[in-house]
Amino acid sequence: MIGNAVLSEKTMFEQIEILPLGGLKEIGKNCMLIKAGEDAIMIDCGMGFPGNDDFMEDDFFIPDFDIIEELGINLLGCVITHGHEDHIGGVPYLLQQFDVPVYMTNFPALVLTERIDRFAVYKKNIRTLNYKHPEPIKLGDFTIEMIDVPHSIPEAKALVIKIGDFTILHTGDFKYEPGKGSPFTGKIPENIDILLSDSTNIERQGHSESEESILGNIAGIIENATGRVIATGFSSNTTRIGNIINISLLKGRTVGLLGRSVNSYMQIASELGHIKLPASVLTDQTKINHVPENKITLIVTGSQAEPRSVMKRMSLDMMKSVSIRYGDTIFFSSKNIPGNELSIGRMIDKLIEKGADVYYENTDKIHVSGHAFQDDIVQAFKDVHPRYVVPVHGHRRFLDLSARLAEKNDFSSVVISDGDMLCFKKGRRPFISHTFELSTKVVSNGESDLIDFENIKERKRIAKAGFMTVMMTVDFFSNELLAAPRIISAGIANAAKIKKIEREIKDMIEDYFNDEIADEPIWKDVEEDIRIMVRHYLTELTDKKPIVHAIIVNLD
Ligand SMILES: [Zn+2]
Repeated sequence: MIGNAVLSEKTMFEQIEILPLGGLKEIGKNCMLIKAGEDAIMIDCGMGFPGNDDFMEDDFFIPDFDIIEELGINLLGCVITHGHEDHIGGVPYLLQQFDVPVYMTNFPALVLTERIDRFAVYKKNIRTLNYKHPEPIKLGDFTIEMIDVPHSIPEAKALVIKIGDFTILHTGDFKYEPGKGSPFTGKIPENIDILLSDSTNIERQGHSESEESILGNIAGIIENATGRVIATGFSSNTTRIGNIINISLLKGRTVGLLGRSVNSYMQIASELGHIKLPASVLTDQTKINHVPENKITLIVTGSQAEPRSVMKRMSLDMMKSVSIRYGDTIFFSSKNIPGNELSIGRMIDKLIEKGADVYYENTDKIHVSGHAFQDDIVQAFKDVHPRYVVPVHGHRRFLDLSARLAEKNDFSSVVISDGDMLCFKKGRRPFISHTFELSTKVVSNGESDLIDFENIKERKRIAKAGFMTVMMTVDFFSNELLAAPRIISAGIANAAKIKKIEREIKDMIEDYFNDEIADEPIWKDVEEDIRIMVRHYLTELTDKKPIVHAIIVNLD
């Protein structure tokens, strides 16, 4: 039996380690381990989006949790800074592997539990903290406290993490609201050893802009509209959506919300008291259609041209009840997330072709970012005054620039990337003790089953070039084919052509068996020889590289 006095005593650690599993050298998939002895806590557990066409539209990435088991780490739990998908999207997949508590405030908890309905079994792991007065979290020897930071979603928090003698501040995603002072000064302990600092907007010079700075422009667009107004933005930015609603009401328009995510985020935000959703706001499409065109603002999903979003479907005439027409005023109170520019551009073209006036980030100042700009990030270094700055969130160039600015302002800094184990001992400069190879985990078509990176590449290749399987039945005594090879293929050439190709391949294989077979063949090698021969032939013929399998079966 251990006495209370002993329990309250701090366990001392000679060193702590920091291991990012995502979000450092990339945008998204934010996830980091902080380790002391065998124990570790996880900060954020996000998903990442591919942003290139090697992947299908619904694919997304999650962190490689296998490393936790491989290193024998005892994961105590996870703490979430806020409810953006690049911070919470990986939680259901984490919980498939680890039965640990995941702490977060009300908003992300409601977003997540709604999103993970089909993972209902994991709801018991979600520990919800009151966002107004979040209790300090105790996980083993770790204590984690949340402090408020301004961002583009309700209840964004920075974390003060104490372990033994060490104190770390993780900013989460944050910005400085002009005129509202520092989110850190007076709210954090004085001796911060390590500042893990959001670098998303480090390339943008100057100070962050306030939400208020764009409201006049939005009001102007709504006021000048003669027909319907159709607006879109980030559904999780409920303050922005709330502002668009209020401006529309002031201008004498009824507001309708269309699309799943805009409805669910607004519902949750109003339930928790973050916004007041006026009773007049319509969510029912048939009622929306009864409002005169110059008296309605529709707020819809689709700022990123997501395939199933309302804006995208409207641009393709796929919405039965609402179609875009001459006289509509459309605005995007959002930025184009890198990787989506092409599809957003194409969608805007379509909207304009249908006769709508479209306003977006390149035409009007109607969006402000939720991340601190360069001068504010430097201000955060000064306000927190840490012994070391370790930049987080962003491409390698963002982290490097952030570190350079820290050094320029007399702060020591260390740049680490996903997989780097940063070792920190008191009185010593932190150093990377090892770099672990992390694998890319892809979740495909919304399925919880993981498929690996190779599998995705193979699927893409099949889609581009087709596949062919060649089956040969062989008598292992005489080393002869017992029948003509069987060929199954798809996507290589049209029906008439593929018949001819298959005949030629059969001849090639028969020639091979007549002329090339050794006396004591190694059948695995024969399979590989034939596979390469067939693929070579198909590549010559079609200029593509189909997936080819060659299989030898023994009939005895
Ligand atoms: Zn965020």
